[in-house]
Amino acid sequence: MEYETKHPGPWLDIDSDSRLVVRVCEWRYQKPIVKTSKCCHCGTCYLFCPTGCIASHGTGFVADLEYCKGCGICARVCPVNAVRMVFEESE
Ligand code: SF4
Ligand code: SF4
Repeated sequence: MEYETKHPGPWLDIDSDSRLVVRVCEWRYQKPIVKTSKCCHCGTCYLFCPTGCIASHGTGFVADLEYCKGCGICARVCPVNAVRMVFEESE
């Protein structure tokens, strides 16, 4: 399936004209928190995130929580354990 978000990620087909905007934050029950001091800027989370909502923000890679669906893949693939998943209610 092709879709368009404001975070197209590495898999965007730039010739696609499909228009399905994916905002999934309303049903997410957990979210990723990045400890930027541990992030080594490898970009692995960016490559594996299925919604392509992770971007580098200078000090580290951070997810746009409006588009993050809370799957936890970024936390699983991070080689230095810089990402942890927390429940929405807690910080
Ligand atoms: S939890 Fe899933 S959707 Fe959210 S940033 Fe990580 S990999 Fe992407
Ligand atoms: S996978 Fe981990 S170390 Fe690599 S960019 Fe993402 S948060 Fe940083």
